Amino acid sequence: MRCARFRPTVLSTAVLAVLALAGCAAAGPGGGDVSEEKAGRDWTSELPVNRLAPLGEGDGFVPEGGSLDPSDDVPALTGLDPELLAAVREAADAALEEDGIEAVVTSGWRSERYQRFLLDSAVEVYGSEEEAARWVSSPEDSSHVTGSAVDIGRTDAAYWFARHGARFGLCQTYANEVWHYELTVDPGGTCPEPLADASAG
Ligand SMILES: [Zn+2]
Repeated sequence: MRCARFRPTVLSTAVLAVLALAGCAAAGPGGGDVSEEKAGRDWTSELPVNRLAPLGEGDGFVPEGGSLDPSDDVPALTGLDPELLAAVREAADAALEEDGIEAVVTSGWRSERYQRFLLDSAVEVYGSEEEAARWVSSPEDSSHVTGSAVDIGRTDAAYWFARHGARFGLCQTYANEVWHYELTVDPGGTCPEPLADASAG
């Protein structure tokens, strides 16, 4: 994923994983030069190392650049809308059976404080709430907090979902986030055109 462009620093990979998440929302080609410029700076070193301490599995936190098997029984998955989770599991099975592609969930349900952490980090890094909003949704607006969105990895699986997700009712929400899926249509329906980015919704 494009988020991987954040350069490793002295901070732990868990910190990097979360910061990469924070950067996902505007990581598309239309992300703009300001974002590209700031993404290239060594900004992870500006954040306190202990920032992640309060976040745990109960927040839906996915550690260590992490990924979950869709069949896992953890809050990041069990906190999702049951219909969405069932559709994701069904689609992941189909991807494996039909094309040998292994899908993982890189982020699912998140607690409000997890989303708040992501947003606060983005505000700190980008210098304003306005700029941060291009990167991370607020706890009030995030479809991850309501349990109605999942991020699918890895790249080949995300593209498989883009091509075949509609069979299961799953649609890509944002043009710049091929990994982000929501249960948007009835199984077998036609997905609407994705929005440009998270700030367009
Ligand atoms: Zn997402």
